[in-house]
Amino acid sequence: MSDKKVALVTGASRGIGKAIAEKKKKNGANVVVNYNKDEKEAVAVVEEIKKNGAEGVAVKADISNFEECAAMAEVINKKFGHLDILVNNAGALADKTLKNMTKEQWGLVINTNLNGTFNVTKNAFPLIRDGGRIINISSIIGISGNFGQTNYAASKAGIIGFTKSLAKELGKRRITVNAVAPGFIETHMTKNVPFIRKKIMMAMVPLGRAGLPEDVASLVGFLASDKAGYITGEVICVDGGLSF
Ligand code: NAP
Repeated sequence: MSDKKVALVTGASRGIGKAIAEKKKKNGANVVVNYNKDEKEAVAVVEEIKKNGAEGVAVKADISNFEECAAMAEVINKKFGHLDILVNNAGALADKTLKNMTKEQWGLVINTNLNGTFNVTKNAFPLIRDGGRIINISSIIGISGNFGQTNYAASKAGIIGFTKSLAKELGKRRITVNAVAPGFIETHMTKNVPFIRKKIMMAMVPLGRAGLPEDVASLVGFLASDKAGYITGEVICVDGGLSF
């Protein structure tokens, strides 16, 4: 088995996760591309990774399901034997005001975003080598809250608490744990935001544009690198200045 660094990126079939997986490939790491539904896109990401001489594998696992996450960890163990970088990126939305939100919409978002972060990290944990990196994708909504997003905001705020606590637990092993909080990023997740709402939001962004998946991937790439070894327990926004 190769001693090369191994990264697991959840929800890497598209959007921010795909950009992160492709950045890892450029840094020479072997990459595990997790997906839930879109096998075709996940396999395409793996093909790109292989073109750069790194190894890649697409692994289907619904992160809201603990057993599927255990099975994913077993695949990684058999193929690579260890893990160095874990990026908990996969996430879901089901926006409604609390008045109109169903128990199912609450459950979907909490089970995917917050319980999913636990399910993946808990099962991957025995594979993570000393000096490793855990990067959790939160959101500025987890810091500020947002109209119609009580479920999403609670899940993303929970990820911040999880990050800070785990950073304290893992410091002795030089494993850093940080959260990244994107603002408005152009992906499938935000494609249905009405034009007028987007225009109003962009007017509030000092840098005057929506973010791209690569803007988030650049920070994740840095946090995963050896250069970021003295940064842990942090929440770093990538939002063009929207939240300061
Ligand atoms: P996206 O384009 O909708 O992609 C979501 C990814 O998550 C897909 O690869 C999807 O894979 C995967 N996924 C969803 N549910 C899953 C599950 N149960 N198990 C495994 N994978 C699952 O979203 P994105 O904008 O790139 O978002 C990525 C992360 O950034 C999320 O955590 C999101 O909350 C966060 N974020 C995004 C923004 C934004 O403006 N876009 C802002 C702040 C934070 P399949 O299609 O294969 O299921």
